[in-house]
Amino acid sequence: MSTRTAVITGASAGIGAATARALANAGFHVVLGARRLEKLQPLAEELSGTAYQLDVTDADSVASFVDRIPECHVLVNNAGGARGLDRVEHADEERWRWMWETNVLGTLRITKALLPKLLASGDGHVITVTSIAGHEVYDGGAGYTSAKHAQSALHRTLRSEHLGDPLRLTEIIPGMVETEFSINRFDGDTERAAKVYEGVTPLTAEDVAEVIAFAATRPPHVNLDQIVLKPRAQYSGSRVHRE
Ligand code: NAP
Repeated sequence: MSTRTAVITGASAGIGAATARALANAGFHVVLGARRLEKLQPLAEELSGTAYQLDVTDADSVASFVDRIPECHVLVNNAGGARGLDRVEHADEERWRWMWETNVLGTLRITKALLPKLLASGDGHVITVTSIAGHEVYDGGAGYTSAKHAQSALHRTLRSEHLGDPLRLTEIIPGMVETEFSINRFDGDTERAAKVYEGVTPLTAEDVAEVIAFAATRPPHVNLDQIVLKPRAQYSGSRVHRE
């Protein structure tokens, strides 16, 4: 069988970088996209993959990224994140816009642009990293939970719209994963970010990547629709057992 190509968005850090590694180990040619090309390039070199700059919030950037990719079998919609933890009464529109642009419209743009190539591959697979925040709400989280709910709705709609087409769709629904996520959420405040994981053993980016690689390596007739994975000590977005 010829080498299959997997495109990973947000591959410069965290879950995306670990996923690039896991899919390269599973035999895929990996194409890495993110804004920080300086982080992507050494990883692409190490994995004998390809790195192109990508800003999922910018339509021109998405178009030129997709133009450079001749074929695509797997797309991992991973680029995203949260900004702030503000109650609705203190909502900051700029932060909301960032979360919606990146998680929701970013996923829409890149998926729409790559769909023809995914379908032409004869066995396409869209894997979207949403979150438990896409399936529940918590105080202070409305900007992020609403974006993740919308991203999940977009992804699940595709599952129905493409029934009968050679396209699989898997939603990955992680709980707490220790990455740069909380540092970015709290504008670089590492102390506040560390508190999120205090007294808990969170998932690692590798834990999530392993599950993504498992989903991507099932035979073509097997569609893993939704996979929820959480640390043992986490029940929900707002309920965590801390030692
Ligand atoms: P992370 O370490 O902050 O990584 C986020 C990645 O997204 C980076 O590679 C970043 O790259 C990329 N990105 C951000 N904006 C982008 C843009 N406009 N265009 C292209 N790439 C962009 O966080 P992570 O935990 O790995 O998050 C990955 C995904 O998992 C996100 O969708 C997040 O919502 C989801 N998730 C995370 C957790 C968690 O607890 N960590 C739990 C559930 C779901 P550049 O900055 O280089 O562009």
